Amino acid sequence: VALFDGFYVPAPKDRLTRSTMPLSAALLETFHAIVSDNGFITDKGEMAPFLEESRNRFESSADLVLKPKTTQEVAEILSICNDNDIPVVPQGGNTGHCGGAVSDGGVLLNLSRLNKIRHVDPANASLTVEAGCILQDVQKAADEHNLLFPLSLAAEGSCQIGGNLATNAGGIHVLKYGNMRDLTLGLEVCLPDGRIWDGLRLLRKDNTGYDLKHLFIGSEGTLGVITAASLKLFPKPKQKSSAFIACERINDLLDIFDKARACFGEMIYAFEIMPSFAMELVTKHIPDQKSPFAQTYPWYGLIELVSTTEQHPLQEELESFLSLLYDDSFIHNAILAQDMKQANAFLNLRESISAAQKKEGGSIKHDVSVPLSAIPTFMEETTQACQNLVAGCRVCAFGHMGDGNIHFNISRPEQMESYPFLKYWEEFNELVHDMVHKFNGSISAEHGIGKLKMDEMERYLPAVEIDMMRNLKRSLDPNNIMNPNKIIRL
Ligand SMILES: Cc1cc2nc3c(=O)[nH]c(=O)nc-3n(C[C@H](O)[C@H](O)[C@H](O)COP(=O)(O)OP(=O)(O)OC[C@H]3O[C@@H](n4cnc5c(N)ncnc54)[C@H](O)[C@@H]3O)c2cc1C
Repeated sequence: VALFDGFYVPAPKDRLTRSTMPLSAALLETFHAIVSDNGFITDKGEMAPFLEESRNRFESSADLVLKPKTTQEVAEILSICNDNDIPVVPQGGNTGHCGGAVSDGGVLLNLSRLNKIRHVDPANASLTVEAGCILQDVQKAADEHNLLFPLSLAAEGSCQIGGNLATNAGGIHVLKYGNMRDLTLGLEVCLPDGRIWDGLRLLRKDNTGYDLKHLFIGSEGTLGVITAASLKLFPKPKQKSSAFIACERINDLLDIFDKARACFGEMIYAFEIMPSFAMELVTKHIPDQKSPFAQTYPWYGLIELVSTTEQHPLQEELESFLSLLYDDSFIHNAILAQDMKQANAFLNLRESISAAQKKEGGSIKHDVSVPLSAIPTFMEETTQACQNLVAGCRVCAFGHMGDGNIHFNISRPEQMESYPFLKYWEEFNELVHDMVHKFNGSISAEHGIGKLKMDEMERYLPAVEIDMMRNLKRSLDPNNIMNPNKIIRL
């Protein structure tokens, strides 16, 4: 720790004093002149939708919402905020799960109008888009050139590329293509002092000094505002084959993944798991969802394979793979999707779990990862410990097993109301995260830290790591205007 002590600039001024001060009429007029009527909101009613927080965990308030349309406008706003000590919270689609886009006053900078697809370069297999582009629109832009932008998550119709970058989003295809960090070639960023960094490189090899884009990816708006990105594209799969499988034990799913990896390698597009309880919730709460099987099983898995050639006998290979699993008693049952409609139905089942769990009432959620080999023991021990804490609580641990990412969620016992159950929030957090730590895992696999997990992060990471992060923050944002009190406290 001593190594980094006093390394950089002095600690910033007190946030609380500043954020409670109302903005002067002159400053409001200056902001208005930059973004004009369409990008300027001070009316409380009009601001309300931008101040919602999906999990109702945090209150959000802002002096005004600004919606810039160009990078230059973002830069001008930041420069004024920096000079006048005004906190700035960048906001994309506001679908994040950690309260990262929640504001405690100052400027809420919504990026939705900065939404041009700037350039598609099929020969370089890349595209350059502005931060406010909706993820689905970026996927479509790639598709129009017969290419694939592979990031895919259930919020893709509303989350934005800037938010995806700022949270280093994952989703179901990380297994094959990596997360947002792996999909990025270059960034354009407005620094807190208003300077614009044009790092929109289109290179797959570039070792000129520190790779600064990685500082901003996953920084949740605490170091600057991402205004545009150059992203990697891939050949579009020509065929896809999906199977829904039913197993007795989670260990079987791990063995099956191991065999699938050996057999299909890069062709594995997704490998997701869900317990019986998740299936029960989805079929109970989500209209038109039904289990592919007539009877219930303890565990289910979804395997998706893709191939970029039409000739590959994908469906036959998956079918023989499933037969072998069945013969060796790894699975109780399996259904091979006969067409895209059925394949999409399998995926919808898996992607409906969060919405279904919300309808079941109070739940406490954890987005964690552990080494693949540790998943079965981690699940077994953590489930038991949860039962010991609150008898009858219902564990709904599902997720992207192929990358060790489990959404370890716990629903209230059937006989307990939501509120008394939610009072155990901190205790469950500590219990689950202690287990994750014991198994050398991460307390934030893909959703980030935001406001939600600041204390947790500080508890589990080595002090020297926290100190390096603090010093980076101070060096790039000495006045602490960028999304203060998120990720790390100064
Ligand atoms: C149904 C559902 C399913 C989800 N599934 C997944 C999943 O599978 N994988 C996954 O990773 N996430 C998932 N998420 C979480 C969420 O969608 C992602 O974190 C997403 O990347 C957030 O994007 P956003 O545009 O909504 O960002 P916001 O929620 O608006 O912001 C998130 C953070 O990024 C910062 N930020 C936003 N834009 C910028 C910018 N331009 N520059 C700098 N900082 C910025 C904000 O300040 C905040 O700290 C899911 C969410 C929902 C609701």
